[in-house]
Amino acid sequence: MTETTKWVFAFDEGDGKNKKLLGGKGANLCEMTQIGLNVPPGFVITTDACLAYLETPDRQLPAGVMDQVRDQMAALERKTGKGFGNPENPLLVSVRSGSAMSMPGMMDTILNLGLNEETLQGEIKATGDDRFGYDSYRRFIQLFGKVALGVSDEAFDKEFNAVKEAAHAKQDVDLSAADLKEMSERFLKVVEEHTGKPFPADPMIQLEIAVKAVFNSWMGRRAVDYRKQFHITPEMANGTAVNICTMVFGNRGNDSATGVGFTRNPGTGENKLYGEYLINAQGEDVVAGIRTPKPLDRLTVEMPQMAEELAELRAKLETHYREVQDFEFTIERGVLYCLQTRNGKMNAHGMVRTSVEMEQEGLISKEQALQRIDPISLEQMLFPRLDPSSKVEPVAQGLPASPGAAAGIAVFDADRAHQLGHDLGQKVILVREETKPEDIHGFFASEGILTARGGKTSHAAVVARGMGKPCVAGAEGISVDVSRRVAIVGATSFKEGDTITIDGSSGRVYLGEIATVEPDFTPELSTLLQWADEVARLKVMANADTPEDARNARKYGAVGIGLARTERMFNATDRLPLVIEMIVAETPEKRDEALEALLPLQRQDFRELFEVMAPNPVTIRLLDPPIHEFLPDEHQLEQDLADLRALAGATRGMTALAGSMGLLHTPDKARDEFDAVRRVMDPMMVEEAIAKKEAMLRKVRALHETNPMLGHRGVRLGISFPEIYKMQVRAILEAAAECAQAGIEIQPQIKVPQVCTVQELKRVKVYVDEAHAEVQAKHGQPVKFKFGTMIEVVRACMRAESLAAEAEFFSFGTNDLTQAVFSFSREDAENKFLPLYNQSNVLQDNPFEVLDERGVGKLMQLAVDWGRGVRADLHVGICGEHGGHPASIAFCDQAGLDYVSCSGPRVPVARLAAAQAALKHRPQ
Ligand code: ADP
Ligand code: MG
Ligand code: MG
Repeated sequence: MTETTKWVFAFDEGDGKNKKLLGGKGANLCEMTQIGLNVPPGFVITTDACLAYLETPDRQLPAGVMDQVRDQMAALERKTGKGFGNPENPLLVSVRSGSAMSMPGMMDTILNLGLNEETLQGEIKATGDDRFGYDSYRRFIQLFGKVALGVSDEAFDKEFNAVKEAAHAKQDVDLSAADLKEMSERFLKVVEEHTGKPFPADPMIQLEIAVKAVFNSWMGRRAVDYRKQFHITPEMANGTAVNICTMVFGNRGNDSATGVGFTRNPGTGENKLYGEYLINAQGEDVVAGIRTPKPLDRLTVEMPQMAEELAELRAKLETHYREVQDFEFTIERGVLYCLQTRNGKMNAHGMVRTSVEMEQEGLISKEQALQRIDPISLEQMLFPRLDPSSKVEPVAQGLPASPGAAAGIAVFDADRAHQLGHDLGQKVILVREETKPEDIHGFFASEGILTARGGKTSHAAVVARGMGKPCVAGAEGISVDVSRRVAIVGATSFKEGDTITIDGSSGRVYLGEIATVEPDFTPELSTLLQWADEVARLKVMANADTPEDARNARKYGAVGIGLARTERMFNATDRLPLVIEMIVAETPEKRDEALEALLPLQRQDFRELFEVMAPNPVTIRLLDPPIHEFLPDEHQLEQDLADLRALAGATRGMTALAGSMGLLHTPDKARDEFDAVRRVMDPMMVEEAIAKKEAMLRKVRALHETNPMLGHRGVRLGISFPEIYKMQVRAILEAAAECAQAGIEIQPQIKVPQVCTVQELKRVKVYVDEAHAEVQAKHGQPVKFKFGTMIEVVRACMRAESLAAEAEFFSFGTNDLTQAVFSFSREDAENKFLPLYNQSNVLQDNPFEVLDERGVGKLMQLAVDWGRGVRADLHVGICGEHGGHPASIAFCDQAGLDYVSCSGPRVPVARLAAAQAALKHRPQ
């Protein structure tokens, strides 16, 4: 870069597509100017200038920057007819930061730059409004002092309050021109005291200081931390640009206003202008929550002409950007200016509805509609809503700022929220007067956010929507007393630790916990997911263990069950005693008896699953966990035994005592009572109980394993206790035969867990073939089924060719496979060293959450290829958590799998992710 480098671009010449060079805000200001929107004239200093500046050892602006800035200021003077520093008719500007990605922690905007004692007089003369002049001046001194010179807010606040008190003013608007003049004088002194220098009066010097301050803020702690936390790399955003923009004034009287708008409702997606404004206000007043703004609907009444122009602005923005826009505007004496636009951040409801509607309006294609939504966000749409039939009255009403309902204990500051919510795992609702960027850790730890001040575009609302958390903002009836940890609501109050419920869809606040109901798919979501299914190659199945789960999964659009875990069925209260009996049986006959009793129950389970899912496949996994998991805990048994033995001693003692007292022969009331007691403590019964517990304890000890997850489980169990698998296989096939008889078309699939050698599969296949022949003979009906294997053991991957000779399908159990490939036991890893590994980048992700493509994935790919080499139509899928993770789904698509199977609520996420995976590699 040389002296001839172009560091500065006027809004009417900068390339609106080049966000990397001009920052997001700057690029859009250029673009809007060039498509004819009314943007106040201005220019952008590039991010390259920022980087070059930061590289200089003594932080000097690169040669040429200030020359080009002076040229541009001269051009602004020509365009506006005003002069920078001209006491007659002063030009004032704002200085705004903006990088390629929006990022808190960058320098705050300075408004009204160019004011000093002389230009102030010019401004007052030009506007004829001395209150306006002094108000602008004191704001400028404070902002400049704070953000460009680093003077603390408190110093200004102290003077501010002193003046307010002296003037007996309740609100800022009660302050007179004289009060504000006094305030600006005090502010100037504050700056001088804190910096040791007089406040810079020369506008060009003010400008240079401000530009440097913006550049410096790129390396400020908050910005650096934010980039680290959100993995923003230099490729994504490098350096900040500076935007210098002619001031327009929304605080010039009642024909002036400032506001923010969304071209569509970001909470619901409704195709209607949404936003807020304040009459006679400037800049940040709307977002800062100082006054609660009015909804834009009101503008039609208060300023009909402006409302019309705003509608035009909205239409122009959307047809140009073909994306919902979030924009800032200011009205100065009846003239509308647009000050910023960017793509609107919306919650999932908003994204889905706008995607579908914008496609229907011809603004975007189906592919774009599918690609603009983050699949994970769809989970938000499945959040519970407040039970509409609940009769509980709300205690306060605020603005519905981010939809969904949440209940939790109230906490009044972000640190407490973090402590209780994050560290202690409690459900908390963060309740604040208003929130600030430094409260962000409290948001992460909370179920929902409630603020007493601020509108739908306040910090709390915007951040909560971004996170998909419910938020009620501006509930003015609530006053928060942080130091006493209590919130007053009219006649009542709630304190820290009290449970409250907020409904971000209606803006209502309730004391206590209100019941919630499961949400339904919106018509738009159904449409969108239908489009997704049309382009996706991968099918999405669900993991479902009960008919209830299966019904839900179906509702979410699953086209089958990829994993039904039979052990969940074993755990039901009517089964467990039978299961235990089967396990502790001392003889094969006894065991058969218990299994006989279990068989019809399992048959019924399977039949219901088949029926709910018909005609889609239902994949049933034979028993997997080690059987001692169904038995009582060893320590509990020991404890119980000790208690029983003590009781036996006491009973014996009592009986002896009673005998020696001749009580046993006394025919009176005392004896009746004694008998009653003795019946309960019958020594024989106690002895029997002891014997039973001892037998159980022996069994539990016999079954004890040092490492159960690598022990006697899955198919190993099926081979050493063949009766169990035989019973399950029979139940599956009989249920299938019953369905066939009833004319229900189904696709049963039997899946064997933990297989490491084909010999295991072959043994189980023998049970299956025997039972199959018998069931067909008995029902006189052909019964179709598929036989396949889990692939979750490393050796199974390596032996995929031989397994595929027996198995018609493979189902990757990537949780166990990940444990095996890493030799990590999941729980130990996650509780002990994985967080550190992730933090220090030894491992980039948690492999139990994000499928490890390079290790586990590679092994999967080998198994798929080898398996298909033997059996071309081998059906391959993945079940388990990874099956619902978009990045892992993309991998499965590439690896040639046929389906993914995930938990029910993840099915919509997986359907969209499968479509996106297919689109990614589709030739455009
Ligand atoms: P942020 O990135 O925090 O939105 P902005 O640079 O957009 O910061 O500015 C903060 C506030 O100041 C916004 O309300 C914006 O509309 C207002 N503002 C910025 N520049 C001007 C200007 N030239 N005239 C009037 N208001 C302005
Ligand atoms: Mg802005
Ligand atoms: Mg497993």
